[in-house]
Amino acid sequence: MTGLVLLGPPGVGKGTQAERLRDSLGLLHLSTGEILRRAVAAKSPLGQRVAAVIASGNLVSDELVGEVVDQALRQDGAASKGFLLDGFPRTLGQVGILDRILEPAGLTLDHAVLIEAPQDLLVRRLTGRRICPGCSALYHVDGRPPSTAGVCDACGARLVQRDDDREEVVTERLRVYRQQITPVIAAYRERGLLREIDGSGSADEVFARVLASVRGVAV
Ligand code: AMP
Repeated sequence: MTGLVLLGPPGVGKGTQAERLRDSLGLLHLSTGEILRRAVAAKSPLGQRVAAVIASGNLVSDELVGEVVDQALRQDGAASKGFLLDGFPRTLGQVGILDRILEPAGLTLDHAVLIEAPQDLLVRRLTGRRICPGCSALYHVDGRPPSTAGVCDACGARLVQRDDDREEVVTERLRVYRQQITPVIAAYRERGLLREIDGSGSADEVFARVLASVRGVAV
């Protein structure tokens, strides 16, 4: 069983790397952003509580996200497959919450993979990002365009820009991320779990670095 958390600023390519890690290592992949966005789209009680916070680029409360992760890890057989948390923990409070979720479930964290890239690259990647509202496939107007502009290759739905990928919100998300993540990084570094990855270059190049780091191989 492998337990991973994937850390990195919005726009660094966490979603893409998480999909590849899931496929390559067979892990249960939990993206808190995706779970929350689905709840907003479904207008569930959770979605109604978090919709305004997400649209503003701020963070949902630690307790609420903790409940979401706890439930997801219980339901989905994390113990047999191993798990990959994407977008959680984002604050020092969430580091403690995760410890309290994992221990009674008999799960352990093996690596905290941190992917980094310069700010201007992140802004370019985020504002060009498009998502399929039907099947959650990710595209980018420059880096990963669909074969027909604005249309999902997989399911034919019309692609949209996430509200929080608009430029004015992106700057706020990056500011909030940097402020909150610094003590999270320090905590995992102190425990010897931190694996720092250069997120520049192609998705293939970054994935080779990520895979090598969790396998303990130097690149
Ligand atoms: P993401 O797709 O990871 O950028 O998440 C989108 C939005 O969901 C964030 O801007 C937050 O409002 C919310 N969110 C996702 N994960 C967390 C988390 N671990 N803690 C608090 N809020 C979160």
